[in-house]
Amino acid sequence: MQKVKTPEEIQAMREGGKILATIFEGLKRQVKPGVSELELDAWVDAEIKKHGATATYKTDEVKFPAAICISTNEQIVHSIPTNYILQEGDVVSFDLVITYKNMKTDSAFTMVVGGKPNGVQKHLIHATEQSLFAGIDAIKGPVRIGDISAAIEKVLNDAKVGIIRELVGHGVGHEMHEAPEVPNYGRKGTGPLLSPGDTIAIEPMATLGSEKIAMGDDGWTITTWDGSLAAHFEHTVLITEDGAEVLTQAVFR
Ligand code: MG
Repeated sequence: MQKVKTPEEIQAMREGGKILATIFEGLKRQVKPGVSELELDAWVDAEIKKHGATATYKTDEVKFPAAICISTNEQIVHSIPTNYILQEGDVVSFDLVITYKNMKTDSAFTMVVGGKPNGVQKHLIHATEQSLFAGIDAIKGPVRIGDISAAIEKVLNDAKVGIIRELVGHGVGHEMHEAPEVPNYGRKGTGPLLSPGDTIAIEPMATLGSEKIAMGDDGWTITTWDGSLAAHFEHTVLITEDGAEVLTQAVFR
């Protein structure tokens, strides 16, 4: 299914994933009312370089015009950072891919600027993050994609939030997007079989309203069709003999 990754390549992803997680921990402290998306992008770009990694989005394969995607409020993913100044109560999602020792890792999270989410924001963000953890927990060693997808879908359905179905998780490692696709809905026991050594990015996206998406005029930004708030959480995960190892986390969960 995937091109086999050597132990050295998996180790490079482990190291790259820790760098990504470390950058995210620092980024969370940079996010506050009054800071612009462009300032945050510049901060992330500098941190990536400081760690000896590369901002994958800016490379010729991707040609995204920034180091990180910053998607605010009704924006779901792939938004280009602008001079917009973050306000208290904005829901903002960060999605980042870095390349380290030629291997790629991919992660995303959503937070509320100012740290005081209202009830519906808290519900959306919590449900989306929990659905990611449910997807990871469905991996008990070799696993079918449908087992992961069904676990994510159940959490999002139980929370009665909209599931973004047109965008999916994916294999990751040598390339930013590898086979197989990892949908955020599906049926247990179906789909491609993942084996120990495979690495995938699991990335549920959910909304407080419609599941329908709209593409922005810039050709990148994807927003909710109805303007409702969106959230996005993502980890790069290694399939092991008896479970999963989260690579984009500073400490193993
Ligand atoms: Mg991804």
